[in-house]
Amino acid sequence: MRIILLGAPGAGKGTVAELLTDRFGISQISTGDILRGAVKAGTDLGAAAEGYMKRGELVPDSLILGIMENRLLQDDCREGFILDGFPRTIAQAESLKKMLGILALKIDAVVNLEVPVDVIIRRLSSRRTCSNPACQAIYNIYTKPSRMEGICDKCGSPTIQRDDETEEAIKQRLATYAEKTAPLIDYYKNDPAFISVPSLRPEPVIDAILSIVDR
Ligand code: ADP
Ligand code: ZN
Repeated sequence: MRIILLGAPGAGKGTVAELLTDRFGISQISTGDILRGAVKAGTDLGAAAEGYMKRGELVPDSLILGIMENRLLQDDCREGFILDGFPRTIAQAESLKKMLGILALKIDAVVNLEVPVDVIIRRLSSRRTCSNPACQAIYNIYTKPSRMEGICDKCGSPTIQRDDETEEAIKQRLATYAEKTAPLIDYYKNDPAFISVPSLRPEPVIDAILSIVDR
């Protein structure tokens, strides 16, 4: 099974992808996770991507396409994959179409996750991460607060907002989404595999995906 997840930052792509992975044992390919891993590992790719990510801008298509061309050829992708965070521009979607054509693969579902913008801002701005690099525990000030405000339960270090989760960066990420990524909805909307579903909770999204994949 091959699935593309579309949606704004904070729409729940990662959560839905994880549930699908557990259910079907196919790989989740998250370009955001790949890039964060590269930044942490201090690779050339990480160094090239870091500034864009901090500012909430998109990393240049050429870097992303290099990652994806390799990733789709890995063995685990033969069983299928869930694309979480790619494509994010029309140019990336055109390149994906070419790559899939060469590999003779078809996408089973293109799923747009719909979430009102106020919910998105609340989700993104409520996350806190432990500042201790060896800990990095994640909290949410509404749904999973630390016992003492601003202090990590596990190690006592201060909890902070990630660079790209400050109000400034969130605004930039949403503006980037509206300009560069939202046009993908029009790009895919006449594809028979396209569906658009409310994403306030993940379970109904999974059900909607299953109904399109089975038919
Ligand atoms: P979110 O969807 O919550 O913004 P991601 O984890 O998907 O977060 O991505 C984090 C950052 O990584 C993005 O803000 C962007 O800078 C970069 N990134 C991830 N995927 C892509 C992509 N397909 N094209 C360009 N930049 C990307
Ligand atoms: Zn900690």
